[in-house]
Amino acid sequence: MEPQRGEVFQDNGYVIDDDGFREHVRSVLARIVMPNAERWEAHGKIDTESWRALGREGLLRIAHTGPEFLRSAIYLDELGKLGYAGIRGALGVHSYMALSYLELFGSGTQQDQYLTDARQGLRVAALAISEAEAGSNLACLATRAEVTPEGSFLVNGEKRFITNGSAADFFITLVRTDNTSDKGILGAAGFLIIDADLPGIERVRQPMLGWRSADICTLRFSDVPVPADRLLGSSGRAFSQIMKALDFERLVAGLLAVGGIDYCLQTLRSFVQDRKIGRSALSGKQAIRQQLAELESDFALVRQYSSYAAWQQSHGQLETLTASILKLKSTELAVIAAQKCLQIHGSAGYLEDAAASRLYRDAIGATIAAGPSELMRDMIYELG
Ligand SMILES: Cc1cc2nc3c(=O)[nH]c(=O)nc-3n(C[C@H](O)[C@H](O)[C@H](O)COP(=O)(O)OP(=O)(O)OC[C@H]3O[C@@H](n4cnc5c(N)ncnc54)[C@H](O)[C@@H]3O)c2cc1C
Repeated sequence: MEPQRGEVFQDNGYVIDDDGFREHVRSVLARIVMPNAERWEAHGKIDTESWRALGREGLLRIAHTGPEFLRSAIYLDELGKLGYAGIRGALGVHSYMALSYLELFGSGTQQDQYLTDARQGLRVAALAISEAEAGSNLACLATRAEVTPEGSFLVNGEKRFITNGSAADFFITLVRTDNTSDKGILGAAGFLIIDADLPGIERVRQPMLGWRSADICTLRFSDVPVPADRLLGSSGRAFSQIMKALDFERLVAGLLAVGGIDYCLQTLRSFVQDRKIGRSALSGKQAIRQQLAELESDFALVRQYSSYAAWQQSHGQLETLTASILKLKSTELAVIAAQKCLQIHGSAGYLEDAAASRLYRDAIGATIAAGPSELMRDMIYELG
């Protein structure tokens, strides 16, 4: 497959012509995100004003499809390079994972009501799929939306590990809508837009090892009354909806991880150049140089593959196999790179507040979120 006119390969991925978009993204992230990053990590979430500031700068409404998706690929790469998986997770879930359901399956009215504000950062979105018995396998989905005589829904159940859980103004929520389907559980399920201020919703913070700005929560729904017009598409369509959206989610997770590896390798390279063992720099040791060479070679391959995956998406041709391979290889390489980065930093890297510690605990989360590596391998085997 050849790049189309106007698309240029660079060593760090595709760009659409060279119109300064990457520089714009970098300067906005440097101004709005980086000065606040440590505070968000400590507080567990991005603050309301910063969501709005990012919205005003246009970074929450970059295209999900078509040639303009390549701008998203640049943005996701730059988000990854900030070196905070919690921040990139929160922004990625909002703009790409949760909102993609509204873009793909929302009616015109639903899009007017929710998408417009969310793209301006005026409302925050979360995606609520995972449950205690329904994580990598959704067959035991238990959250129910009972249809009332008036035709609206009454929702009961519990979701867990939900990014943006306490900040979200609405949840794109996977629910069972019917017990009678013979098409399996997802044939009896659908996605509801649930406003966070409805009665009967409890949110409880679920702090994790890493991803500290991602605001991860358990959500409890007790007799939550949801109007009928909050159903995305029609009931029983969850299977086809989720299959389409999950490929995109894994592509986004992969592109974020690639930016994260880049940051990790830059951190490592500058550390070994500066750090002296006795009189000589660590970068002079063959054992260290070889480890860096190995990591950088693997990274070059994953980076090229990420450009290919982004290119597929920009042409409406994203394959499940491509998204799964990218998600698997990028998130696993991120763990390997982070482990080496920490080891080579010595005890200073193992301090609670060291960047190397954060990279390590953050990297592991991405091999589980959006489908664990084992599931990716199953799918790659089936499709390969
Ligand atoms: C940082 C983070 C953010 C998250 N954000 C969200 C969110 O915003 N919204 C949301 O809905 N969910 C979210 N999740 C949840 C995530 O999607 C689930 O954790 C994931 O799908 C796995 O489900 P589980 O944890 O229940 O693991 P389980 O399904 O219980 O699996 C446990 C382990 O078993 C192994 N395993 C699973 N399947 C197979 C298989 N087929 N073959 C071999 N081994 C297997 C894997 O090692 C897996 O990690 C997040 C998770 C994390 C870590």
